[in-house]
Amino acid sequence: MSDICEDCAEKSEVVSRHFIQNVIDKDLEEGTYSKIVTRFPPEPNGYLHIGHARSILLNSGLAKEYGGDFHLRFDDTNPTKEKAEYVDSIMEDVRWICGELDREKVFYASDYFDAMYDCAVKLIQKGKAYVCDLSAEQIREYRGTLKEPGKDSPYRERSVEENLDLFERMRAGEFEDGSRVLRAKIDMASSNMNMRDPVLYRVARMEHHNTGDKWCIYPMYDFAHPIEDAVEGVSHSLCTLEFEDHRPLYDWVVRECGFDHPPKQIEFAKLYLTNVVTGKRYIKKLVEDGIVDGWDDPRLVSIAALRRRGFTPESIRMFIELSGISKANSSSDYAMLEYCIREDLKMKRPRMMAILNPIKLVITNYPENEIEYLDVSNNQENEAMGTRKVPFGRVLYIERDDFMIEPPKKYFRLYPGNEVRLMNAYFVTCTDYVTDEAGNVTEVRCTYDPETKSGSGFSGRKVKGTIHWVCAETARKAEIRLYENIVDEEKGVYNEDGTINLNPNSLTVPESSYVEPELAEAEQGESFQFVRQGYFVVDTKDSSKEHLVFNRIVSMKSSYRPK
Ligand code: ATP
Ligand code: MG
Repeated sequence: MSDICEDCAEKSEVVSRHFIQNVIDKDLEEGTYSKIVTRFPPEPNGYLHIGHARSILLNSGLAKEYGGDFHLRFDDTNPTKEKAEYVDSIMEDVRWICGELDREKVFYASDYFDAMYDCAVKLIQKGKAYVCDLSAEQIREYRGTLKEPGKDSPYRERSVEENLDLFERMRAGEFEDGSRVLRAKIDMASSNMNMRDPVLYRVARMEHHNTGDKWCIYPMYDFAHPIEDAVEGVSHSLCTLEFEDHRPLYDWVVRECGFDHPPKQIEFAKLYLTNVVTGKRYIKKLVEDGIVDGWDDPRLVSIAALRRRGFTPESIRMFIELSGISKANSSSDYAMLEYCIREDLKMKRPRMMAILNPIKLVITNYPENEIEYLDVSNNQENEAMGTRKVPFGRVLYIERDDFMIEPPKKYFRLYPGNEVRLMNAYFVTCTDYVTDEAGNVTEVRCTYDPETKSGSGFSGRKVKGTIHWVCAETARKAEIRLYENIVDEEKGVYNEDGTINLNPNSLTVPESSYVEPELAEAEQGESFQFVRQGYFVVDTKDSSKEHLVFNRIVSMKSSYRPK
């Protein structure tokens, strides 16, 4: 190898590192932390979506890279919106995306309610928190605005003893919901609104899925979250940009509560997909209105929906990798996600034949009642996948648009007098066609040339078009679901009234489709390339051996080119 080449090889191995890795490298170097612990902290109030995959993979990836721990922590401190059913789906999704999930590293924020209560007491004892009797509206008024400082609450100077007593009685259920709160005593004139004596605890009689009716006071997010991180020994608490202004409060809480090794909050940009609906509120409405058949409808981008659509964890990981980690908001293209799944399946999945919109093709010089079995390569780009036997006979189905009576220029498929190759089989020449009373073509007739059998080495003449087919006698009927974006991209995603501009063609099912007989044995969730049509997966909800259902994951065409 020459010097130049060695140089190149060296350079290509230098993988660029993102700003969070740089912070961690420095923290380890300076001894600020000796072990890296990260967490993904979902609120169990809905299904996870593709955006969450960025957070999951970022956190779990860093823990892996630095030989640390990754925690899945349910942020279940707000009992009104949470549901136990979401806990199971989130756990399954995280396990699926990461390829593993250490059950020992699954935590619940509600398990720390006692620790949070103790922290609150500690703050009161230090004179850093007080019980306030102002109503929610008054608190808002006293808070001031971005331009004007706030006003101190008249209850701000209560004694430590009185605060301890009142807080204890808040906990004991002596006060009405919303009548009193515990607030941090920081600075009502701070330029950061979050530091103007934020509320730490409120009285709310709510049943909690984990702690039942043990508590009638619940901590606020900005107080609970840093404590959860600190209790678990998290080193780097990664969150999205909207929490940047909350960081001073985060730091205040862990400092004043006296944690020895306080975690560090670092913000990164959310992942957005252009023209794709990710908001829980919108998806919930689509589900409730029956527009989609649940949170896992293949047109959505919840993790459950992407899985049902046929995306693989590998494709999601590649997509997240390509979209990068940054501090600036940006939006990625759905086409990039499609590129990733094509790349992942290309070499791994068998290439089969399926006819979505059939028309009959009769080979008039082929023996009647004869079926021959042709050897067909499962994946021409990956010989290791072997071959299979595909039945061929006198009557086939081909795609309706692979035949035209009067073709335009550059149409190389079937038309009267033209010869094409039947993929993996023979050359055929169109001799005739049959129409119904309305003039619709119902059958195409042709003759075949036995000399031209695929694999025979025939080199007598060339044809320009190759079309695919299935043998009518042995083919299996299948329901094939073709998807487009659920929103009408041309009109824009949202209407002025906040509703979604729905695309009426987001799901189409051709009237009758046929697949190779071997596909009848496919299991739910198994995916295939259907040549010329794209990648398809056996639906995990509706497909059965009697009624096959395939979802199109992605078509063959790509509008995305990697940089
Ligand atoms: P909500 O919309 O109800 O606030 P959420 O999408 O923020 O919900 P959480 O359960 O709070 O859901 O999110 C869990 C974690 O995932 C948080 O740390 C959050 O910052 C991160 N996260 C949420 N959305 C995205 C996104 N689009 N890209 C990257 N990370 C995200
Ligand atoms: Mg949130």
